[in-house]
Amino acid sequence: MTPNRPLLEVKNLKKHFPIRGGLLGRTTAKVYAVDGVSFDIAKGETLSLVGESGCGKSTVGKALLRLYPVTDGEVYLDGQRIDNMAASKLRPMRQRMQVVFQDPFSSLNPRMRIVDILGEPLSNFGMAKNRADLRERVGLLMDKVRLPRDAIDRFPHEFSGGQRQRIGIARALAPGADLIICDEAVSALDVSVKAQIINLLVDLQDELGLALLFISHDLATVEHLTHRVAVMYLGKIVELTDRRTLFAKPHHPYTKALLSAVPVPDPTAPRNRVILTGDVPSPINPPSGCRFHTRCPLVHDRCRVEEPALRTVGEGHSSACHLTHAPGELAMAGSA
Ligand code: SF4
Repeated sequence: MTPNRPLLEVKNLKKHFPIRGGLLGRTTAKVYAVDGVSFDIAKGETLSLVGESGCGKSTVGKALLRLYPVTDGEVYLDGQRIDNMAASKLRPMRQRMQVVFQDPFSSLNPRMRIVDILGEPLSNFGMAKNRADLRERVGLLMDKVRLPRDAIDRFPHEFSGGQRQRIGIARALAPGADLIICDEAVSALDVSVKAQIINLLVDLQDELGLALLFISHDLATVEHLTHRVAVMYLGKIVELTDRRTLFAKPHHPYTKALLSAVPVPDPTAPRNRVILTGDVPSPINPPSGCRFHTRCPLVHDRCRVEEPALRTVGEGHSSACHLTHAPGELAMAGSA
């Protein structure tokens, strides 16, 4: 790896889906699912991508994995550009970048035994010398995710939801990945099981130096495992900073609204709940100016016509809002 260079660099990534209509199937509109997203992730770091359903966060993950062709922008893995790499050269990239999906049951083939599910990536990447070696390596993967080795001949339905997600994580580790994209990987799990899987991911990160892109709709979920957080709204990142700053001193009104909905240990403690009105606008026809202006409690005239750039508001902290101070202090960018 190039010294000081992030493991993953994403520059102005765009993914627009054409909507076709008419007899000739011409493009009549576009879904602006991801519309200029930039971030990076260092080796051993967790970056969480958070936002409501439909904000484009899962599309970012799928575009990085080349499950969708990107519309524009650049993606680098360990310094090597991968967004436009020929399919025939993608194999080493796929070995290094793996994914864990939300639903562990549907992502595991019910007719395959665990030894074959975990053995498949080992065989595909030529990592096992023979069947005995493959079974030994699968056993080591089971150790890593704290499942019994003697369960490798069972089928997915013989495991609980949390255990199946451990198998999903083991499958992502199998080819020796150093970046794992967790796409709502704990969202379907009960609270206690969710905490166990998060602890497992943190331990694996410490042990293996993994980088994680953790995609979630829920800020409370990411609080205990992330290093930095990028908040997405309608295809754009609206705030990006380290965990401590985001939870203690958020800048963007949307982040404040998301945080105000996070349950606190003492429900009687005073808090400023920000209730967002209206639905998320359609990504087919996003609002002019600031995309959040139709729901923002601090909207003013400028917001409707001028799109706020993502700009630095503190060390390692950027926010896309015309307000220069944390919401509540009404200084405006350009006048403060
Ligand atoms: Fe709200 Fe305006 Fe800031 Fe957008 S730019 S978040 S509408 S105050």
